[in-house]
Amino acid sequence: MRAKALDVLASSIEGPLVSPRRLAQLANGIRGWLRSQRAAGLPQEVQRARLARTLDYAARRSPFYREALAAQAARVDERTVLAALAEMPFTYPADVREWRRFLCVPEAQLGAVHTTSGTAGTPKVIGFTRRELQRLVTLWALGMRIGHDGPMRVLIALPTTHGLWIGTASATRAVERAGGLPLPVGTPQPSEALAWMRRFEPNMIVSSPSYLSALTRQAQEEGYRARLDGLTLGGEPLDDERKQRFSAYWGSSVQESYGATEIGGPQTIALPDCRALHLNEFHLYTEIVEPGGTTPAEEGDLVFTTLTREAMPLVRYRIGDRARWDACDCGLPLRSIKLLGRSDDMLTLGGAHVEAQVLADAVAGLPGTAGRVALRIEREGGIDHLTLRVEGDDVDEGAVRDALWGAYPRLRDTVDGAQLRLTIETGVDLSRQVKGFSVRDTRPG
Ligand SMILES: [Zn+2]
Repeated sequence: MRAKALDVLASSIEGPLVSPRRLAQLANGIRGWLRSQRAAGLPQEVQRARLARTLDYAARRSPFYREALAAQAARVDERTVLAALAEMPFTYPADVREWRRFLCVPEAQLGAVHTTSGTAGTPKVIGFTRRELQRLVTLWALGMRIGHDGPMRVLIALPTTHGLWIGTASATRAVERAGGLPLPVGTPQPSEALAWMRRFEPNMIVSSPSYLSALTRQAQEEGYRARLDGLTLGGEPLDDERKQRFSAYWGSSVQESYGATEIGGPQTIALPDCRALHLNEFHLYTEIVEPGGTTPAEEGDLVFTTLTREAMPLVRYRIGDRARWDACDCGLPLRSIKLLGRSDDMLTLGGAHVEAQVLADAVAGLPGTAGRVALRIEREGGIDHLTLRVEGDDVDEGAVRDALWGAYPRLRDTVDGAQLRLTIETGVDLSRQVKGFSVRDTRPG
């Protein structure tokens, strides 16, 4: 009964037309309520009801799930849904390449499309209806307001200059919804972002750990220092060393954020003192299963089922990130995780996602190489450093760079913008290497 009332209340909060003022009032109420004992267990009850509705909806309306789930999704209810879900097949990123098969609404009803960044080849497309987009934006804005109740001038320093990436777009919408001023500067060059900071004096920054490392270094070089009220960082795991560096320089607590285009952008919440990432259990049902397997595990592959999506709900989606369950004593009644990196050979270099195999193939095919490539990744002073070692005496360094930029154009921006140092060594002997390429990553986890 209480869960039903909360479901109805949550649905009204998630509605599209919440004013910044109302949002701030809600944030105040929710801040107290979430920390009270009354909230314990309630989000999970709401979650089960929403999960049952999602399975039924997806199996009836999306061609993909009609085929994959129809028989299993019939007649599930709040009591049986978790057991039923555990028997359902996983959905993989490769399935989503045929994104139209996942649509539950006519394409004409989409209010936004966003694409995933990083992977080689055609990016995955994720469609959103206008209503669900507004709901996601409201919830993120509410999360911002729960963490900070004063003025908001937010530098959105995410190094993407163009494209349909969800990060900059949804951060801009959420800051507006929270009644703040978004400054989506989107430049690969930290010096330019710093010029915008001097001009508008933001009190908060939304960025990625690699980009903020480069921006902080630039600020140090130029002798610019400002005291900030909030730093929100996502896009790659945040290690303690970087976290302390940012917090010390900018005088602000650092909030880590996790999300992905497929699950609707950022889907975690962390209060200033949180030491783990709380999942947005109103919009996601989360499982962790053993790496590459199917058994539930304390540590392993993250699997998400979306709970409120209209255009493209995803059921048991194996997103490719690894995590473990983690405890936080802040009192939020939402389960929390610690991120552990990728479950495939995807690397995050200076904030850019690349596949080691694709990089190695691009370089190994150049004239003069012996076909063997070694990648060494370190972190120095908060900045990633990639050393690419190529076997073969007559390999042209410029050609190697061109091959890398050809495979991943964003990598060039990352190197030009000082988020990644790149060293190329040619003429080395890698004959003792068994495979065509090797990766040695010594960065802190
Ligand atoms: Zn917490």
